[in-house]
Amino acid sequence: MELLQLYEEMGLSGAVYRRGEQILEQLEERFKSIDRRAEYNQAKVLAAMQRSRIGANHFAATTGYGYNDEGRDRLEQVYADVFHTEAALVRPQITCGTHALAVALSANLLPGDEALSPVGLPYDTLQEVIGLRPSPCSLAEYGVSYRQADLKPDGSFDYDAIRAAINERTRLVTIQRSKGYATRPSFSVAQIGELIAFCKSVKPDVICMVDNCYGEFVDTVEPSDAGADMVVGSLIKNPGGGLAPIGGYICGVRSCVDRCAYRLSAPGLGQEVGANLGLLPALYQGFFMAPTVTAGALKGAIFAASLYESFGFRCVPNSVEPRNDIIQAVELGSEAAMLAFCKGIQSAAPVDSFAAPIPGDMPGYDSQVIMAAGAFVQGSSIELSADGPVRPPYAVYFQGGLTWQHAKFGILLSVQKMADAGLLTL
Ligand SMILES: *Cc1c(COP(=O)(O)O)cnc(C)c1O
Repeated sequence: MELLQLYEEMGLSGAVYRRGEQILEQLEERFKSIDRRAEYNQAKVLAAMQRSRIGANHFAATTGYGYNDEGRDRLEQVYADVFHTEAALVRPQITCGTHALAVALSANLLPGDEALSPVGLPYDTLQEVIGLRPSPCSLAEYGVSYRQADLKPDGSFDYDAIRAAINERTRLVTIQRSKGYATRPSFSVAQIGELIAFCKSVKPDVICMVDNCYGEFVDTVEPSDAGADMVVGSLIKNPGGGLAPIGGYICGVRSCVDRCAYRLSAPGLGQEVGANLGLLPALYQGFFMAPTVTAGALKGAIFAASLYESFGFRCVPNSVEPRNDIIQAVELGSEAAMLAFCKGIQSAAPVDSFAAPIPGDMPGYDSQVIMAAGAFVQGSSIELSADGPVRPPYAVYFQGGLTWQHAKFGILLSVQKMADAGLLTL
């Protein structure tokens, strides 16, 4: 059967398919450079696994306390090797990215300390962690204060404001690499490196932490190569490669990571406890797959930007800008368009393709959120997914795709649903 015939049966018209093929012709060089980065990162992960002498015996399940869990300890060694850090904490007991960040912050900030975000307001769920929106057990409740230096209107760092914000209480600087649900640029590792160098020039002993969510393996270097004391992220995003069913990581200097381990388990126990519950094969294999899965997601993001720009929608980043994460924001301008877009992504999913996404309340978010995801791992956003808070400019944040081919189909189907609803003309 012809591919197009199969696609037509799946709800995609020839007109949308051909539009996609036209767009793709211009992306050949771009895709080649993504493949070259993926090859480098694949070698980096492979070399780390070989150096740590990973054997089949390291996949064994442990239960209970998880003392002497060699497989778990070696996985952490592999992460530390890839991120070029002294230590790593990689655990299924870290439930998500927010949890990993909350652990890193609360472990390294004591009452009387202050945290500084030099990149404006942090990601929605972090606002309750910090206490910007009141929550039980926030850092604010424990006497940790917070300051913020906003980005300049052009999205660059406001070094004067940052210098003025750093004071004798500033203990930790938190830098979010990806834009999250904001329409500011995501930062390159090089930019983050400059920012860290500046903060340390003002206050040499300040801890610099990077929220690396969605940024892993997009570049051939990570923020830890650019001076970060801790890099933090989620295993149901890039580094889990779509296979990790849960987890988070914190890689960094030994003194910071040790404190995170004590915070995560208990003072005195630290990294020694924490059974792997049989999840190590998925965590190892997912990390092994992560460079190529991330590359596929990047191709999808660039394809989406190129295609949606051709219909006149504003895309952040735009179709030609360099990429610093796998997120593609498309400003759709109306709730109806958000619904149609998400319907397309949902209909393209291998799981729950028959479901209709509708906006709803989400813990940690202050406006309604719409989410489209038909994922093998619930909520996984390295799998093809789209979401966004239903508020102006009605931007959907599109990300993931375990394979480039699936990302492509999902994006085409989102265009189809928009066209079917009369929200764009082919
Ligand atoms: C996803 C994300 C988080 C939170 O991760 P969860 O796994 O959803 O808790 C934090 N920061 C950024 C920039 C993110 O993209």
